[in-house]
Amino acid sequence: MSRIRSKNTGPEIIVRGMVHHMGYRFRLHRRELPGSPDIVLPRHRKAIFVHGCFWHMHRCRYGRVRPATNPEFWEKKRRGNVDRDRRNIKALRAMGWKVLVVWECWTRDMPELERHLRDFLAE
Ligand SMILES: [Zn+2]
Repeated sequence: MSRIRSKNTGPEIIVRGMVHHMGYRFRLHRRELPGSPDIVLPRHRKAIFVHGCFWHMHRCRYGRVRPATNPEFWEKKRRGNVDRDRRNIKALRAMGWKVLVVWECWTRDMPELERHLRDFLAE
């Protein structure tokens, strides 16, 4: 399965930095887990995906962008991502993992990002 998302992108670095700052230990990209989550906290059995709003069709203004050229092509590709995300998250939850999707747009607002992370990690 090809990965569109590249490793070590800006938003992911931001999220990683904040989780680290909050004092949590984590692992990266556990390939043995469905979807190879970006940040994994094995002791807490929690996994975090950092998703680009466009590629994963977030319901925000960045995720709603429709490219002018080849809209059907992009639509299909992005829908494929969304379907795969859904399957991966479902599989992880079935294995007893808690999952958080951090959207790229959250990383533009640090207090917002921190709130989401705190809520999830304190669960
Ligand atoms: Zn977004």
